[in-house]
Amino acid sequence: MSLLSPAWPRRDKPPCSGPLAGLPPTSSSSDSDSGCALEEYLEPAANAAPAQQLSLYPLNSCNPQNTSEYPRSPGSSQLRIKSLLQQLPPQDCDDRYCPTLGEEERKQLQAFSARRRQESLGQGLVYLVPSARLCEKCGKRVNAGDLGVFAARLGERSCWHPSCFVCHACHQPLVDLIYFHQAGKVYCGRHHAEFFRPRCASCDQLIFTDECTEAEGRRWHTEHFCCLECDLPLGGQRYVMKGSRPCCCSCFESLYAELCQACGELIGVDCEQATHQGRHWHARASCFCCSLCWISLCRMPLLGQQVMSYHSLLYCSEACRLEKAAAASTASDSSDSAFVSAPSPDST
Ligand SMILES: [Zn+2]
Ligand SMILES: [Zn+2]
Ligand SMILES: [Zn+2]
Ligand SMILES: [Zn+2]
Ligand SMILES: [Zn+2]
Ligand SMILES: [Zn+2]
Repeated sequence: MSLLSPAWPRRDKPPCSGPLAGLPPTSSSSDSDSGCALEEYLEPAANAAPAQQLSLYPLNSCNPQNTSEYPRSPGSSQLRIKSLLQQLPPQDCDDRYCPTLGEEERKQLQAFSARRRQESLGQGLVYLVPSARLCEKCGKRVNAGDLGVFAARLGERSCWHPSCFVCHACHQPLVDLIYFHQAGKVYCGRHHAEFFRPRCASCDQLIFTDECTEAEGRRWHTEHFCCLECDLPLGGQRYVMKGSRPCCCSCFESLYAELCQACGELIGVDCEQATHQGRHWHARASCFCCSLCWISLCRMPLLGQQVMSYHSLLYCSEACRLEKAAAASTASDSSDSAFVSAPSPDST
């Protein structure tokens, strides 16, 4: 396959030898190359990992038509590298970025990477659209003479508005138009890989082992499912999710457990907690209760009833709240009047 075939929708001959200029001689076309983010897209100085001759390809740079859509100001290069690492994780395609892999997993990663590269990877090209067609993403017209993105892997007539050429999963614009295709959609490398392998929420590598740990909809290498504070392995242990990461019970209680607003004691991992307006109570009748009538409030949220709070105190109802407020104002009125009528020490 070649993107420079006569069938390719290109109105004008680009001023240089085509978008492939700058690719190494071993490369057959840009649409089957560009597998690994770091190898091919980072400047050598920015890459601290495996020693290798790196090059920064001026991707699409010989097509001046696309400059307005894909600005390349020097200030954006950091952002671009960040997006590249996010979209094309080097550890997804090169086992040298995964030094702790076992031999079997290493082989699997290599085969996986080679297959994706061969079957799914491509790089879109921006051209003036020769005749109007419909955008693959939004379904609206791309007018003749407007810029369109073409991705050969999805057929020669498939065309996108430049702003519509985004990963179908994360909706991010595809950096340098590098895409992976799957079932007629384009994806960034990260989300394409995740179709086939789970990704460890700790090390961000794909998981090639038969077993992994799942919690809260995320997955981990079993040996990476560790306490976020003390690194204790938590496989088979009790844990608490803190944000999206697991925490062992003892770290949780010593660092994160809340104090009960009523009794002042820690709300341990074994206790249920009631939270109202950012404050916490033991979810038991003796702590989470009305400040006037002492009725338990624990079931009220479950029953769809609203817990009231006023001046840091909880109430079961507006009636209890008003009664307490009335009592408080009577008390403060009487103390005010007592103060006013008290003889001033200076008045004598
Ligand atoms: Zn569109
Ligand atoms: Zn994505
Ligand atoms: Zn991991
Ligand atoms: Zn811990
Ligand atoms: Zn309590
Ligand atoms: Zn009450």
